[in-house]
Amino acid sequence: MHTSSPIVPILWKAVLADLITDPDELCDLLGLSELDRTNIKKTCEGFPLRVPRSYLSRVKAADPQDPLLLQILPRTEELISTDAAQLDPLQEQQFSPVQGLLHKYHGRVLIVLSGSCAIHCRYCFRRHFPYEDARIGKTQWQAILDYIAADSSISEVIFSGGDPLNSTDASLAAKSADLSTIPHLKRLRIHTRQPVMIPQRVNSQLLNWTSEIRLNVVMVLHSNHANEIDHHVKEALFKLRDNGISLLNQSVLLKGINDNAQVLAQLNERLFECGVLPYYLHMLDPVQGAMHFEVSKERAMQIKTDLQAMLPGYLVPRFAIEEPHALNKTTF
Ligand SMILES: *Cc1c(COP(=O)(O)O)cnc(C)c1O
Ligand code: SF4
Repeated sequence: MHTSSPIVPILWKAVLADLITDPDELCDLLGLSELDRTNIKKTCEGFPLRVPRSYLSRVKAADPQDPLLLQILPRTEELISTDAAQLDPLQEQQFSPVQGLLHKYHGRVLIVLSGSCAIHCRYCFRRHFPYEDARIGKTQWQAILDYIAADSSISEVIFSGGDPLNSTDASLAAKSADLSTIPHLKRLRIHTRQPVMIPQRVNSQLLNWTSEIRLNVVMVLHSNHANEIDHHVKEALFKLRDNGISLLNQSVLLKGINDNAQVLAQLNERLFECGVLPYYLHMLDPVQGAMHFEVSKERAMQIKTDLQAMLPGYLVPRFAIEEPHALNKTTF
């Protein structure tokens, strides 16, 4: 007997439809009365404010220096352009053999799946990315499949973005099923900040398609501070892990947010409690509008030495710099 499936409300879609985008609202909710709102609004014109409400419950009220707030709050420093800063610091466009796909390193290709994110991180190196040009329709998707199928050296596909988990599970399931038919592919990697930003995103649909596909699934999360990982996030991460997904985390080293060993030690201890191992700690890419987050290489090396003295080796991330023409990310 056929019964139609009940209509399940998609909670995370409701969260996405109700993001905080108005700087006045953000400041009011957090009791930040002394900030210069005119400047904040001006800064938003280039790269709008976008924050899920549940993230705010993890931000300390009335503290303009809160490390979670600093990741989302537009600041006037963003309007400063410096010589070192570029619009496309990684010169990514030249590594795109077909629209929507980047093939830069041996054995793996990155697909720019979704142009949007649940949050706008002010340091984002993709803030100037021409997402409009990278949109993947039916024709582009077929071209991507053909490209991967024709190159048997490719064993891993990375869903990236934006945030790939901003796409619907139906679309992700269909795409990963297509990829599964390419015999030389072994792994599907998902680069996402969504489970940390909107833990409701880890729903049964996501767990279903990731456990049904033939490929091994690796999820590389993105968290920069232990305060981001509350018990809701922890529960979501456990669901992913219990579903057989390998969990890694990448962070960005950010001035005033996590540029000291204690903060990073707490982050990596917390991640491990949630079943996640550290992967990369990225040096900031020199992107225009984010240079005020930059930490010098010397300082980063000192932080690494301090961190190594505090943690077991497996909880120390690889410090990584991306150089436009290197064969891999450069680590130290
Ligand atoms: C970072 C990146 C990868 C993945 O590199 P790993 O070292 O395997 O994590 C792949 N392709 C592109 C274009 C990248 O920027
Ligand atoms: S979630 Fe990732 S891609 Fe999106 S704004 Fe933040 S850093 Fe950029």
